[in-house]
Order: sequence, then structure tokens, then C-alpha cells
Amino acid sequence: MATPPHHQPLSPYGFGRPAPSPCDICGAIPAVHTVVRGHQGLVVTLRFLTEEGTFCRTCGTSLYRKMTSDTLWQGWWGLLSVFAAPVTLFMNIGARSRIRALPHPVGNLRPQLAPGRRVLARLPALVIIGVLLVGLGTFVVPRLIPSAPVSFTAGDCGRNNAEWPEQDLEEVGCSSAEAEFWLSDGEKCWGMDWLVHIDYSAELKSLCAHPMKK
Ligand SMILES: [Zn+2]
Repeated sequence: MATPPHHQPLSPYGFGRPAPSPCDICGAIPAVHTVVRGHQGLVVTLRFLTEEGTFCRTCGTSLYRKMTSDTLWQGWWGLLSVFAAPVTLFMNIGARSRIRALPHPVGNLRPQLAPGRRVLARLPALVIIGVLLVGLGTFVVPRLIPSAPVSFTAGDCGRNNAEWPEQDLEEVGCSSAEAEFWLSDGEKCWGMDWLVHIDYSAELKSLCAHPMKK
């Protein structure tokens, strides 16, 4: 007599798979086991914070956002923390992607954590972005913009920020004490005068720089 095939009890989650663990916080499924990290730098000491457990998408997102955002403002205040904070933030990217890969949780038995605003919309990230933008605008952008070429015509005055015959010319008002030379057409160069590089001429004509008479 043939023995009937052995039937495993069918789980609602698929044949042969163990029932998934519910979220430690709210009891919903699905949930994933992961570690969310935070870091606090405290000048002379530092604290590594971890939340390890099985979290659903909603509760996990809330933990990730809170701990990442807290790290963004608490994480930098120490010499070692300057290195530990970015590592913490980087490690949280893995936890975040595991949590975000979950479908929407169902069947929670207890209240879920509120996910709240995304990290980039919270104050610590906004302050850091603001500081970076100000730094960029102050130190980087001015170096990228080529300084406007100075162009002279006869009768203008200026000064040379380099040593003649090098020329790094800047226009200065003729009545200014900073004016070092005045310009005439190029044919009128003599003695102590210098011919100005043609690039400085608005009309691409030769110009001659005469020392100001003090
Ligand atoms: Zn949950």
C-alpha cells in the first residue's frame, strides 16, 4: 500500500518557509533584522549607539531617520568623532536599504513609531547643507569665475600689482593716491614708460603707461 505523501503544514507565507519574525516594536510583518547606528562625539569621549532588532518598514524608517539625524548634529564634536560620524552614517545606508526594501507592514499589534520627516528635511541636515553652500559660495565659486579682464583706453589711470615689466594691471581713478601710471597712445612712449600689453587695450591699440607725477 502506497503511503500518502507527507504534507508539511502550509504556512501563509509560502511553503517550507518559517513564519517571518514580526517587528520588535509594533508586531507588524514583514520585518527585517538590522542594526541602526548613531554616534555622539563628546569632545574627549565618544559614544556609539546601536539599535539592533527586527523592524518593520515604518518603525525602521523612524529609527534610521532619528539616529542619522541625531548623528548629523551630535556626531562631530570630537577629534575621533570627525572620522566616526561619517563611518556611522555610511553604515546606516545599508540598514536603510534593507528597511526600505520591505513592503508596507500589516497587522501591527502595538503603535508604530512615526517615521517623521526625511533626514534631508530635518534641521541638522539643513544646517549642514546651508554651511556647505555658504562655504562653496565664499571660497570656491569666486575662484572659478575668471576675473573680468581690465581694459584701458588712453587717458585712464591704473596701477601694476606686479613688478614691471611683469604686468598685472588694475584700473584706478586718476585722482586716487593709488594710481601709479596714466595711459597715452603707444607712440608716445619714452624714458621710464612701459608699453602696456595689447590685451589690456579696449581698442586693441598699443598704450603707454607713464608714471604719475607725484
Ligand atoms: Zn514596526
